[in-house]
Amino acid sequence: MSYMSNNATCAICNKGYYMCNSCRDFKNLYPWKLHTDTSEHFKIYQIIHGYSIGVYNKAESKEKLQNVDLSDLETLRDNIKAIIKDILYTNEDVQQDITKPVFVDSSANQTKKRRKVQKSE
Ligand SMILES: [Zn+2]
Repeated sequence: MSYMSNNATCAICNKGYYMCNSCRDFKNLYPWKLHTDTSEHFKIYQIIHGYSIGVYNKAESKEKLQNVDLSDLETLRDNIKAIIKDILYTNEDVQQDITKPVFVDSSANQTKKRRKVQKSE
């Protein structure tokens, strides 16, 4: 059994990498080791995470991504690649709200239909 085999997968490029126990111990020194294989991919991870939970808007995310080495963009996970391209190449000057997903809550509609309008007066 190889004790040097990969035991972690990069959240950004999907590559397997080896995280040793001392990496876990030194997670304050190397926080990126917990999620990604390189510190550069951890930057991407943080930006996309921040964008997805609404900490950064698209313009801010774009600015941050432009400071990251994206030369291996094509080797990244498909969903990560799609988000990065969307941030970088979709012009966001017009309206920010448009890109936010609109959830159609069908259950709310049903409740409304079921609820009878009662005039008790
Ligand atoms: Zn990676």
